[in-house]
Amino acid sequence: MKQVYNFSAGPAILPEAVLKKAQEEMLCYKDTGISVMEMSHRSKEFKDIILEAENLLRELMDIPSNYKVLFLQGGASSQFAMVPLNLFRKSCKADYVNTGRWSQKAIEEAKRYGKVRIVASSKKENFNHIPSLDPSSFDEGADYFYITTNNTIYGTRYTTLPDTKDVPLVADMSSNILSEPCDVSNFGVIFAGAQKNIGPAGLTVVIIRDDLIGQAMDITPNMFNYKIHVDANSMYNTPPTYSIYIAKLVFQWIKEQGGLEAIAEKNREKAKLLYDYIDSSSLFKGTVNKKDRSLMNVTFVLPTKELDAAFVEEAAKEGLMNLKGHRSVGGMRASIYNAMPIEGVQALVSFMKAFEEKNI
Ligand SMILES: *Cc1c(COP(=O)(O)O)cnc(C)c1O
Repeated sequence: MKQVYNFSAGPAILPEAVLKKAQEEMLCYKDTGISVMEMSHRSKEFKDIILEAENLLRELMDIPSNYKVLFLQGGASSQFAMVPLNLFRKSCKADYVNTGRWSQKAIEEAKRYGKVRIVASSKKENFNHIPSLDPSSFDEGADYFYITTNNTIYGTRYTTLPDTKDVPLVADMSSNILSEPCDVSNFGVIFAGAQKNIGPAGLTVVIIRDDLIGQAMDITPNMFNYKIHVDANSMYNTPPTYSIYIAKLVFQWIKEQGGLEAIAEKNREKAKLLYDYIDSSSLFKGTVNKKDRSLMNVTFVLPTKELDAAFVEEAAKEGLMNLKGHRSVGGMRASIYNAMPIEGVQALVSFMKAFEEKNI
């Protein structure tokens, strides 16, 4: 088989060991004679799968017992509506930090249901940094405070969390969940689309604190009500069964790698390799403020659009796939999620060096 490294931002690379295990079990899961895809979500086998997935995630993230874990559909984008519908329960006001396209979409959606205030924004600088936050400007009467912990398109991430006191902090962690340890007790709600660091598209993971459940607005559709899904153990309707199965295999794989501390160490090493080279290069340039650099999505540019295009094309020929940046930033983006081995980053850096020598 052709060796390629997939730097796609999402759906993204999965650990090879996970794909092999899925292949092994594809036609016949354990002794059932059928595939997980063909199984009733009410079957004992599937209930064991979803329970194990939850237990593994709880163990990896050290999720406190007063938090519920949900396996839903609809992507992170559905959470943009689900969060306000469920959390606008007192003042119907929320504070949002605008750090890019995904926050912006979340803001637009929340505005339908309540009063949204943008506390800080890096829009003017094309989201090349995380704006500094002044806690004295936060609304103490807000129903929640919303951030996007890693900005997939721009390549930025929060390195410190805002102190929102009693106001629940809500985080879109789609592109950095499980990339490093995170203290869940700092958050009211964490959600993530699976297709970046968890598994295949179609699954959305939600981690929510007990006291925020059960006060949804009257207009909330059942499918958008956290309480409905909590009461049904994520089985109110048919959950994305196969995606949950793969997520379970990914969680197992992370545990085998040594858990989030070990994964974080590898992620830092991979990111450092790439950023150090970019900083030493006289051809490539990083696009974001150094202090806010993402460990998952590394964005960089060449001096001209023509060189950018040539780089992406030539890299693909070498098996370094999907390096084209998002159209709103241009240039390149290397997504180096948990499943990207260090060898992939080494191969990319070698290719960049060769490209620089040829084009300088
Ligand atoms: C990819 C992404 C989304 C959108 O996810 P969907 O599952 O496609 O709805 C939202 N937020 C962030 C941070 C993302 O990276």
